[in-house]
Amino acid sequence: MSRYYLTTAIDYVNSRPHLGTAYEKVTADVIARYKRLAGFDVHFLMGNDEHSQNVFKKASEEGFHNNPVAYCDRMEEEFTSVWKALHCSYDDFIRTTQPRHKAAVQKLAQAAYDAGDIYEGVYEGWYCVSCEAFKPEKDLVDGKCPVHPTLTPEWIREKNFFFRLSKYRDRLIKHFEAQPSFLEPEIRRNEILRLLDAGLEDISMSRAGQSWGVPLPFDPDSVVYVWFDALINYATAVGYGTDDARFAQWWPADLHVIGKDITRFHTVFWPAMLWSAGVEAPRQVFGHGWLHYGGQRMSKSLGTSVDPMDAAAPKFAPDAGPDPIRLYLTKEITYGSDGDFTWERFEERYNVDLANNLGNLVSRVVSMADKYRGGRVAPAGDGGRLAGVAEASLERYRTAMDAFALHEGVAAAYQLVDAANVFIADSAPWKLAKDPGNAARLDAVLFEAAEAVRVAAVLLRPVMPSSCDEILRRIGAPVTGAALRLDHARWQSAGERTTIPGPPMWPRSEPKEITVTEPAAQAPAPEAAAAPAPAADARIGIEDFLKVELKVAKVREATAMPKSKKLIRLLVDVGEAEPRTILAGIAEGYQPEQLVGKTIVIVANLKPRPMMGTESNGMVLAASGPGQPPILVAADDSLPPGTRVG
Ligand SMILES: [Zn+2]
Repeated sequence: MSRYYLTTAIDYVNSRPHLGTAYEKVTADVIARYKRLAGFDVHFLMGNDEHSQNVFKKASEEGFHNNPVAYCDRMEEEFTSVWKALHCSYDDFIRTTQPRHKAAVQKLAQAAYDAGDIYEGVYEGWYCVSCEAFKPEKDLVDGKCPVHPTLTPEWIREKNFFFRLSKYRDRLIKHFEAQPSFLEPEIRRNEILRLLDAGLEDISMSRAGQSWGVPLPFDPDSVVYVWFDALINYATAVGYGTDDARFAQWWPADLHVIGKDITRFHTVFWPAMLWSAGVEAPRQVFGHGWLHYGGQRMSKSLGTSVDPMDAAAPKFAPDAGPDPIRLYLTKEITYGSDGDFTWERFEERYNVDLANNLGNLVSRVVSMADKYRGGRVAPAGDGGRLAGVAEASLERYRTAMDAFALHEGVAAAYQLVDAANVFIADSAPWKLAKDPGNAARLDAVLFEAAEAVRVAAVLLRPVMPSSCDEILRRIGAPVTGAALRLDHARWQSAGERTTIPGPPMWPRSEPKEITVTEPAAQAPAPEAAAAPAPAADARIGIEDFLKVELKVAKVREATAMPKSKKLIRLLVDVGEAEPRTILAGIAEGYQPEQLVGKTIVIVANLKPRPMMGTESNGMVLAASGPGQPPILVAADDSLPPGTRVG
């Protein structure tokens, strides 16, 4: 079995992780789980970076000045409890104060020293305590660190040992040329190539007069500079300095997943350090983007920080576990680019992707199998159109995931979910069930829908492990859990299944306030939105209500209106001779393709109104709270179009 060794960055433990930190761990976990699904023997490393002056300072402030390691012990608990709550499946959690790491750091430093790549000198210059990095004058903005504009860098003059980074410039350039995928995405690679073009200076690799760190083997009065120390953790964890056989088995690392701001350390310093010690460079580095909160940098001091524990148990779905946030972080953000999080957007995607879409699909398939076949789903025929969609989804998924386009991989799985929803609406099993002559066709439809759900759950399992296991259990899949391999995502036309009913997996969150979304209100009427609660004398009699004709309708077609952010053009079946066109102001809550097949409620006797060059013939009922996307008022799928509501 081929091995795959991947790592995340290790974190300073001077504060608890926020959702931005969690973004990296969750996406790396998705990659780790995908690689396991793809059959690799995976080793997934996470950890904490403890030899930082910021950590030392924080430990002192917390009363641990005599024993910073005890403070780090406490923070390890805090960090790992968050990672466990998010279902991060790391195989090893490293801490840079561990003896194994001290051994590795000293071995690598000594090897570089013996190679003539470390020399003594004096460092004089600006140092940002928060970055724990020396800042060249040219990088300062108004005399401040560009990352920490509220901090004044310190002017430092001290004895330092330097690492001869300049010596490795040509080799680095050749390495980048020979291994175009060494640093992804491409934009990050171009930044580093420009840096290499400009030339490299030697870097400081030690600090004098400090006790918090690994002592240099050739000068015990100095400690190894925290960045030089931290990078080595990736080698430590697989035996460098302690277990040569294990190191030979697992090194080089296949992938370092890191933030885009530390690519220079990982693709310039780190390979050079390894080469100096006679060790191979890692195979690949991926620099992900930053997660913002409402368009702002996530920061505790700015009040724009989100606690990952809150995201793993959101108020709108407290029992849903970490899968909704895992899905959001993977699906809503192009991996490699910056992304944004807001609670409103998170709740909206939960309702759309999980409650309405995947959750609804699972419920429908399982409940129809239960109602019409006592839970037994038997194959009949070779599989219809969904088999082809599933095959295409798997292909697209594999290509995307192999290229770390995680968002694309999820989209490929959802392509199958969407197709299954449309397939059920078109096949109308509730109609087939009425005529025993259609029994074979009903069997085929139920099996095909169940098989599509099974395949989608296999594909989505790296993103939503526990939910997908539950889906696979309910759908009666023959293989579930860690035993799954990518081959199980191939369409199977054989094998009877027994479905197991259950409560909705993702109950729709309740909108805070119900209002009716009026399609004509494209230019919003604020006075209507802010209308006070009706006074007693504003109540209407039953005769007034009966003037409004509410009817069940089935969406046949849905298309975006090119010039409108809100409107979607629907063609709906209301049980009349011809389907009607209705413009609905629901584009903020739905993609057109999600609407096809939905059973909704419309006002059928509204006077036709011209809107945007089209005549809208009726009104769709939808609910939305303030600032919330609209959610359609749904009717049971078994109701035929045209059924009167009221
Ligand atoms: Zn800084």
